[in-house]
Amino acid sequence: TPVLLWLRRDFRFHDNAAMAAAATSGGPVIPVFIHDAQVEALGAAAKWRLGLAIESFARALEEKGSRLVLRQGKPLTVLRALIEETGAGAVHWSRLYDKPGRDRDTEVKSALKADGIEVESHPGHLLFEPWTVETGQGEPYKVYSPYWRAVKGREIAPEIGTVSELRAPSSWPISEKLGDWSMGAAMRRGAAVVAEHVHVGEKTARARLSAFLRDHIGHYKSERDFPASGATSGLSENLTYGEISPRTIWHAGYRHMEEGAQGAEHFLKELVWREFAWHLFYHWPDMASRNWREEWNGFDWRPDNSDAEAWRRGMTGEPFVDAAMREMYVTGTMHNRARMIVASYLTKHLMTDWRVGLRWFEECLTDWDPASNAMGWQWVAGPGPDAAPYFRVFNPATQAEKFDPDQRYRRDFIAEGRARPTKTALSYFDAVPESWALSPNAPYPDPIVDLKDGRERALEAYQRHKG
Ligand code: FAD
Repeated sequence: TPVLLWLRRDFRFHDNAAMAAAATSGGPVIPVFIHDAQVEALGAAAKWRLGLAIESFARALEEKGSRLVLRQGKPLTVLRALIEETGAGAVHWSRLYDKPGRDRDTEVKSALKADGIEVESHPGHLLFEPWTVETGQGEPYKVYSPYWRAVKGREIAPEIGTVSELRAPSSWPISEKLGDWSMGAAMRRGAAVVAEHVHVGEKTARARLSAFLRDHIGHYKSERDFPASGATSGLSENLTYGEISPRTIWHAGYRHMEEGAQGAEHFLKELVWREFAWHLFYHWPDMASRNWREEWNGFDWRPDNSDAEAWRRGMTGEPFVDAAMREMYVTGTMHNRARMIVASYLTKHLMTDWRVGLRWFEECLTDWDPASNAMGWQWVAGPGPDAAPYFRVFNPATQAEKFDPDQRYRRDFIAEGRARPTKTALSYFDAVPESWALSPNAPYPDPIVDLKDGRERALEAYQRHKG
């Protein structure tokens, strides 16, 4: 009997437990992607990038004589219809860990089981199932270092081999057309510009990992904080869509560590930050909307405001901040150090609610990950578990001197005032909506806030709040 393989964020053949289980069942495998309300709710860039992942994976399946069946609707209804049409007896999928995803999957699983269908959900999006890591008291971890100590010595199972063949059914169920879903419709910014910077698909992801291991892992620790160095892996985008598994990255990094590569352990530690984010998000599913520390409720954040709009547009007059915001707008991602600096600037110098920034990242990032984004914002702003103290206010000018000493990053992304702006810096003006009325020939704006005044205002508000 045929088997349904419900793909969601696991667009890969290598180390894909759900696919391997479907393939070894012996029956024909029908891979399916369902455009449901949760896909509909994605931010513009994430939805557009998901469309590219689907397109690329559908092609890869076709190369193996298989297909990706696309359907829109409520997953349970769609799966039941496909079971009816194909006579499938089992459904496999890889687990997701966000609350709406979990609730949906639990409902689908129990309903299908009641129908007499075999249903199996598999791990693979994470290294560690969030509920398997707990303190001696049986509590979730709230601080990273002990979490890292708890997991770093764990045996991580070897990767599952690449699935080379998926038996095709004698006839394929009808598929909707990806083009009809208009996955890029909400991308108000020029998708053509961003398209030059995305790295789609499993092959690309694996090539990126190899290049990173060859060229950068040795000096990852010393160079990872320099946004213009290109010294990080860039794999967050591929991890988001499951185009590579964290286990593949872990084992590769681990081998390099054993071979003595400086920086390899640090890289593994960063990879485990993603695990920690999902650990927190699993246990505190409203982390993207509520202050993790309740004592932050009632803090004097400004709601959305015109300064925040200047921040979104990369027009604050603070070059490092603007370069970073434009990097995100043009490429779909932003360097980690830059994320910390722009988040600190928004929540401290501009005193704006961290959720305003979180939402803009959600709208713009092609590597958007609900757990890492929520953890990142709460960490920088102050209310998060294990957060940076609020009084640690990054000074973007000092940070720029330190981490962009030759101005390469700022030059890469800011065109105004330059005799020969870079192509990428100019492309920002092709990407922005016309309504923003920006021009590379206009003078670069003056700072919207004096760094010293902004810092003092933030610290005063903090003191007031603490009472
Ligand atoms: P590398 O340095 O090569 O690291 C390898 C992998 O480790 C990354 O791909 C990522 O999966 C993980 N990792 C590294 N740093 C972190 C971190 N600080 N937190 C969690 N995981 C990490 N990351 C996302 O994937 N999606 C987001 O939406 C996201 N939003 C963020 C928002 C803020 C405010 C902050 C401060 C950080 C955010 N991060 C997010 C984390 C981090 O910035 C990115 O994971 C990193 O920049 C990705 O680049 P890379 O793949 O080259 O990382």
